[in-house]
Amino acid sequence: MKIAVISTGSELLKGATVNTNLAFLGQALTAAGFTLERGAIVPDSGKSMTEALASLAPVSDIIITTGGLGPTSDDITRQVVCEFFGLKLKEDPQLRKKLEEYWQSLKRGFAPEALFLQAQVPENAVVLENRNGTAPGLWLNTQKDGSAKIIILLPGPPSELEPMFMAEVMPKLEAIAVERIFTERFMVAGAAELTIQQQVEAVIGNLPVEPAYCASAEGVRVFLAGTDRPLLKTKVAELKKIFGNAVLANDSLSLAEEASFQLRSRKLTLSTAESCTGGMIAAAITDLAGSSDIFKGSVVAYSNEVKEKMLGVPAEILIKHGAVSEECVAVMVDNVCARFATDAGIAVSGIAGPGGGTPDKPVGLVFIGVRVKGRAEVRKFNFRGSRETVRRRAVASAFRMLRDLLFQQ
Ligand code: AMP
Ligand code: MG
Repeated sequence: MKIAVISTGSELLKGATVNTNLAFLGQALTAAGFTLERGAIVPDSGKSMTEALASLAPVSDIIITTGGLGPTSDDITRQVVCEFFGLKLKEDPQLRKKLEEYWQSLKRGFAPEALFLQAQVPENAVVLENRNGTAPGLWLNTQKDGSAKIIILLPGPPSELEPMFMAEVMPKLEAIAVERIFTERFMVAGAAELTIQQQVEAVIGNLPVEPAYCASAEGVRVFLAGTDRPLLKTKVAELKKIFGNAVLANDSLSLAEEASFQLRSRKLTLSTAESCTGGMIAAAITDLAGSSDIFKGSVVAYSNEVKEKMLGVPAEILIKHGAVSEECVAVMVDNVCARFATDAGIAVSGIAGPGGGTPDKPVGLVFIGVRVKGRAEVRKFNFRGSRETVRRRAVASAFRMLRDLLFQQ
């Protein structure tokens, strides 16, 4: 089944809204064994939408549109799609009643007639319930030039589209799926992408498995896709054995997930003292639901004053060695563990740039300290790249150092 998405909305092309619906649909479809083959983004213009339909219909079995189902004048998806496929729109009395009830519950007087545009439904359409908004989604089984097409119209707001897609669309897609492509994934930390690629290719040989790689500061995510799920699982198990400890445990796909898992399985707690990363490590950990059992807190010690007062870094160290120094970070990590009463700690101090560098202490110089129980280690890094890259690399390196120390326990 060839699936395409048309994202509608001028705001998407202006960059005012990020097209998260496309990313969501791509991820959800891939996870369920479908392949999203094409995507188009069009402004709120009937002509552009029709052109996108005309170019995608001949090469797609299923077209999903997002946005433009609401009651305002730029919401034209329903009408344009119906015109293109030669379908008539009719008011659904049940939907009208629902909209009326909804409007009354707002106590805003008479309902504007435009509200009821959302009750217009093409003939033979299946209405997809919207539990988080007013515009229902629509599923149309139709035809174009003699071949069957499924058109799925979804609302624009991600808070409405995402649950509707999972609850209403996915079961219907699964029911009609012929062949599904499954993807297994794992993450390798601390090995070069090319080395990983060579190992993966050696293991899969000529088997019907499609590998893909995604490298980041944290490591390389490896994806193996194919129709034979047991084969994929066998190959992943083989590769995990080869990569050994470099593979993140528990199917983790980020170093923060890995850190949480490794801390939790050892019943250890963590605190952080962050200068140039400004709380990014704490944020990465607390992004994961349920982290309160392993994470106690963080001090964003950006100024020397905070390093001194909150983390007990002696003034002499700050004067003699500066805040970006092995000595300072060593005290930061010891004291954050002591003050938060945690088994493990991470401290970071560095020069993220773009300003603030000196010949002695250039932009990208970062000291990272990690402690796990009685063992502490401070390392010096010279990261290259923009402020954002330096900070991301510092976060990844801190998690990697923590992982190494945990494995030495
Ligand atoms: P619409 O249904 O087109 O009126 O869109 C309603 C809201 O959803 C607007 O705030 C849009 O910015 C947002 N929205 C529409 N399409 C997308 C998309 N592809 N990704 C993220 N948000 C979107
Ligand atoms: Mg719109």
